[in-house]
Amino acid sequence: MDQANKFGFTINRSRLIDYDRSDRKVRDYVTLMEPSFRLCFACGGCAATCTAGYHKSFNLRRMNTLIRRGEIEPLREEVTRCMLCGKCLLVCPRGVNTRNVVAAAAAAIRKLDRNEL
Ligand code: SF4
Ligand code: SF4
Repeated sequence: MDQANKFGFTINRSRLIDYDRSDRKVRDYVTLMEPSFRLCFACGGCAATCTAGYHKSFNLRRMNTLIRRGEIEPLREEVTRCMLCGKCLLVCPRGVNTRNVVAAAAAAIRKLDRNEL
């Protein structure tokens, strides 16, 4: 038994972004396809109004963060949860085309799987 389990708790993995080692392919593709992605300042307005987030576990702000961090594996499932209704577009204070961001992230993952990115 390792030391952490012995005390009944584990230490969270560091959430610091290591930009030298993070995978930038999806982030670069999304920014290329939807430049307004750069304007997101993670206020969470989109997540608060999200239709999909009301019915299931989905958070657009979290998805944006996964893209920025290059965390591809959790992103794979996250992009499938958006219903592309466009409600978030109406509330974003920075004018981010959020629906396009989701579509671009989904396209980037498909390209990754086909080794085209
Ligand atoms: S509402 Fe716009 S600025 Fe705020 S987290 Fe969502 S995309 Fe980013
Ligand atoms: S387009 Fe997607 S992220 Fe935006 S409100 Fe609709 S379900 Fe939520």
